[in-house]
Amino acid sequence: MALSKRSWVASANDAGCDFPIQNLPYGVFRHEERTRIGVAIGDRILDLRSCAREGLLAGLAEEVVAACGADLLNPLMSLGPAAWRALRDRITELLDAEDSSKGTRDRVEKLLVLMNDAVMQLPAQIGDYTDFYASIHHATRVGKLFRPDNPLLPNYKHVPIGYHGRASSIVVSGQEIRRPRGQTKPPAGDPLFGPTKSLDYELEVGVFVGPGNALGSSIPISEAEQHIFGLCLVNDWSARDIQAWEYQPLGPFLAKNFATTVSPWIVPLEALAPYRVPVAERAAGDPAPLAYLLSPSSDKDGIDLTLDVDLESRHMRQTGMAPMRLSTGNLRELYWSIAQLITHHASNGCNLRPGDLFATGTISGAATGSEGCLLEKTRAQGPITLTGGELRTFLEDGDQITLRAYAHKAGLPRIGFGECTGTIAAAGAVL
Ligand code: MN
Repeated sequence: MALSKRSWVASANDAGCDFPIQNLPYGVFRHEERTRIGVAIGDRILDLRSCAREGLLAGLAEEVVAACGADLLNPLMSLGPAAWRALRDRITELLDAEDSSKGTRDRVEKLLVLMNDAVMQLPAQIGDYTDFYASIHHATRVGKLFRPDNPLLPNYKHVPIGYHGRASSIVVSGQEIRRPRGQTKPPAGDPLFGPTKSLDYELEVGVFVGPGNALGSSIPISEAEQHIFGLCLVNDWSARDIQAWEYQPLGPFLAKNFATTVSPWIVPLEALAPYRVPVAERAAGDPAPLAYLLSPSSDKDGIDLTLDVDLESRHMRQTGMAPMRLSTGNLRELYWSIAQLITHHASNGCNLRPGDLFATGTISGAATGSEGCLLEKTRAQGPITLTGGELRTFLEDGDQITLRAYAHKAGLPRIGFGECTGTIAAAGAVL
């Protein structure tokens, strides 16, 4: 798509807008008691079900038109890249300032909903959720806290580490996060049960699976990205005190599965094409990936995507202070690419299904200021002083965490992800 293309939806052409005509992310929204699939354009949502009903998708394959009438994205996800491209091309035509006729524009304009009037929903039925550990900077810093002499375990550079998370507690941006209760073990003393005292966020990018693979089959690395419908933001809320006590020997469990927040818009890989970069270079002496993980396109398997984390405490909100930036990182610093995550997951014959969610794991950079969670930041550097003077080692009730992501370079359209936000509510009643 031409990188200079503009939309007749004026707000889509604003310099700071996340959703220009070159982005066109998919989501599911509720408006006037109806749930529908839509595409973000500027400050509006194009209602795809109505587009289908009004004949604006005529000429596309029947299955594509039918998928646009669903109230979840799974049917569209299952169709694969050729179908996604055909639909994206048609939506581009409908919104293009130059291509679309006045008559078309009038018909499409009636099908736009103001984002502010809609409530975003989970975009898909998520069958399975897998969380990885693909940032070597995160793995090294966290490893150092527990094993100062041997921060990185011997498997890290050979095998993409992950664990099976829980899909039932994934919520869409904006939903309140209740502080979990759990079992912890004070350094001196018996285990006890109560609200976590070490609630943390994890800045991650989510990958929604498109077409899956049959049980027993695998996905070659050269085809991995054809199985990716698009990307979103993920906050993998974590209770560090519960985690520290429960995680051995089987890994994360109740410290992670009480809630995971996703951003509502799924950005197609096609929109990110101008921002593809080589995967992060492996240090001298690092092993090459085994053949099944060795990508023929490692010169463009990375993505140059800036990632910001902001915190706003209840006090800051009540006194009108702006949220405070906690960190800025970049997706390009991952050790394992999103293609490698897909291929590795299916390499044993595990079947992926349309709508499955992968998350990268906490994304941290090498530099101070790019740590993707509080554990890394405050264990090493001490508590953070917020604007207004409050101290934070971990999250307090009323704290709001907002993740943002965008790709931007001079002369290229800004491709934004919107927001992934959640506010901590007090723990519920005692069991
Ligand atoms: Mn995580």
